Amino acid sequence: MSEIPITVIPGDGIGEEITQAVLTVLTALDCGLVFEEALAGGPALKQGLDLIPEETLQHIERNRGTLKGPITTPIGKGFTSVNVSLRQHFDLFANVRPALSIPGATTRYSDIDILVVRENMEGLYSGVGHVRSEDGERAELTSVVTRNGCTRILHHAFSLAQRLGRRKVTVVHKANIMRSTSGLFLEVAREVASEYADVECEEMIVDNCAMQLVMNPHRFDVIVTTNLFGDVLSDLCAGLVGGLGLAPGANIGEHRGIFEAVHGSAPDIAGCNIANPTALLLASAMMLDYLEMPEPAARVRTAVRHVIGDGRILTPDLGGDGTTDQYTQCLLEELGH
Ligand code: ATP
Repeated sequence: MSEIPITVIPGDGIGEEITQAVLTVLTALDCGLVFEEALAGGPALKQGLDLIPEETLQHIERNRGTLKGPITTPIGKGFTSVNVSLRQHFDLFANVRPALSIPGATTRYSDIDILVVRENMEGLYSGVGHVRSEDGERAELTSVVTRNGCTRILHHAFSLAQRLGRRKVTVVHKANIMRSTSGLFLEVAREVASEYADVECEEMIVDNCAMQLVMNPHRFDVIVTTNLFGDVLSDLCAGLVGGLGLAPGANIGEHRGIFEAVHGSAPDIAGCNIANPTALLLASAMMLDYLEMPEPAARVRTAVRHVIGDGRILTPDLGGDGTTDQYTQCLLEELGH
């Protein structure tokens, strides 16, 4: 079996606990992954290193796949968000967030299967033009959207839909009001959609999309949108399938991907052995797919569905009283260990 090195960044808060749980499960798969640990966030600062040490950047650069635990950005100390920095540094332009119902997780809806593809680099999150007037009475922020940025995220969404046999892509925008930025996104969407005749394209204004997602989520398949809208709507979608503890995400660039949980470092429950590692585990399944290892990816997803579906051990966020360790042990048993 060939060895496939991946970079692992445990992160901080609940990061170490859930990363450990995920590595235990991945090890049980015995599929050739080799874990190369790198530091970022709190653990790096504690060792007197930068928030994202140069060595960590080199690690990520070397490997196609990185599994990253949540990392807190220290507030008020002049640090830029680690997540944003990594996306920018490696040009990880596509943020892919699946929202897939897991039987056994109590939610308002069952059978949700929505894939949100969010532009990850531009728009109001591009970090351009933050201005606060001296008297504090006025604030400005610039939204930058480029044809190239729109084109590559839209191709990413449509080709993903095509590859996965999905029937429809909903292009979410606000071009009626934000005529320049959202207008460009919509214009490019129409051009790109015309190249994918077998995938239906629908256009939807973001406020309507938010309402439709709550009232009639089954009408959605793949959603593609700009940075801010995608950030908000993908959390909404996570809420539809049981909350942050179950929501994975991938940041994909031309040459590599960083796979993570959508949730943060949950400092309120850090060290308590009750964090739900499922989101990061499902992110690791996305990474296995990305590394062209569909069989172990499917085993991970099936194990999660069985354990949560049986309600054998659920962590408190899913209404149970199980610990992270007990849940992980159940997953191992499910995998035949
Ligand atoms: P950030 O700003 O880093 O996103 P946050 O505190 O706003 O941090 P989260 O860290 O995602 O957001 O936590 C939000 C809530 O969800 C917290 O109450 C936390 O305990 C809970 N939570 C987040 N992730 C998990 C998890 N994996 N398992 C259980 N509870 C979780």
